[in-house]
Amino acid sequence: MFGPTVQGEGSAAGRHCLFVRVFDCPLECTFCDTAYTWAVTDEKAAKTRSGRRYDRDDPAYGLKFMEPDEILSGLRKLWDIQTRPTIIVVSGGEPMMQQQSLLPVLQQLRGWGNEVHIETAGTITPTAAFDSVVTQYNVSPKLANSGNQLSKRYKPAVLAALRDTGKAWFKFVVTENHARDLAEVDHIVADVPLRVQRVMVMPEGSDGPTNITTAQQVVDAALARGYGLSFRAHVFLWNNDPDR
Ligand code: SF4
Repeated sequence: MFGPTVQGEGSAAGRHCLFVRVFDCPLECTFCDTAYTWAVTDEKAAKTRSGRRYDRDDPAYGLKFMEPDEILSGLRKLWDIQTRPTIIVVSGGEPMMQQQSLLPVLQQLRGWGNEVHIETAGTITPTAAFDSVVTQYNVSPKLANSGNQLSKRYKPAVLAALRDTGKAWFKFVVTENHARDLAEVDHIVADVPLRVQRVMVMPEGSDGPTNITTAQQVVDAALARGYGLSFRAHVFLWNNDPDR
C-alpha cells in the first residue's frame, strides 16, 4: 500500500488516490513493471525482461498476507479515509483473482465514501457482489506485444461483461511498433465491441523520454480513430518508483 499519490494512467490520471497492490497475475507480460507481484518461480521469471525471480519468503520482498482489517488500518495510516474520502486504486498483479477476499475491504471503503478503482487486464469476469462495490474499472487488455498467448490474454466475453457494467475504461499499451499495435486494438474494439469513447492508448515506457517519443508517434493515429491518449505520469514524476 502506498499514497497519497496521483493516479498516473488512464481516464482518472492526475486524481488523488491511495494504491493497494495485490499479489499474483495469470499473465506474464514481458514489459510488466510490477513483475515482483508474480515472478516467483523460475518459469515465470524467465518470461520477464530482467529474468529476476523473487523469493516469496524473503522479508525484503515485502509480500504479506493481510486480513481485511489490516488493510484498512494500513490505509488509514496513509490517509484519513474515514473523513476525507479519496480514490483507492486496487492494482497488481491482477486484483480480480482475489475478488472474494477483497470484498469486505472494498465494502468498507465505499461505506466511508471512497471511490474504488480496479486495475485489471480484463481476463476475469467480476461477480455481481464485487461489481456492486466498484466505482470504475481501468481495463488494460493485453496485445501481442505483451508476449502472452492469445488464448490467455484475450477474453472477449469478459471484456463485454466489463463494458456492460458501464464503469469500464479500456487502455491499450502500444509500443514503437504502433501501426501493428493499433491494428490489433482496432480489431478488439470492433470484435467485442467497445465504444471508442472509452478507449485510450498508452505508450509503453518506464522512462519519460521513451514514453513521450512513442506518444508523439502514436497520438495522431489514435485521435483519428476516436481513441484517447494516456501518459504515465508516475514515470515523469517519480521515475517509476514502485512506492509512488
Ligand atoms: S497483466 Fe499487468 S500485472 Fe499482469 S503481467 Fe501483465 S502488466 Fe504485469
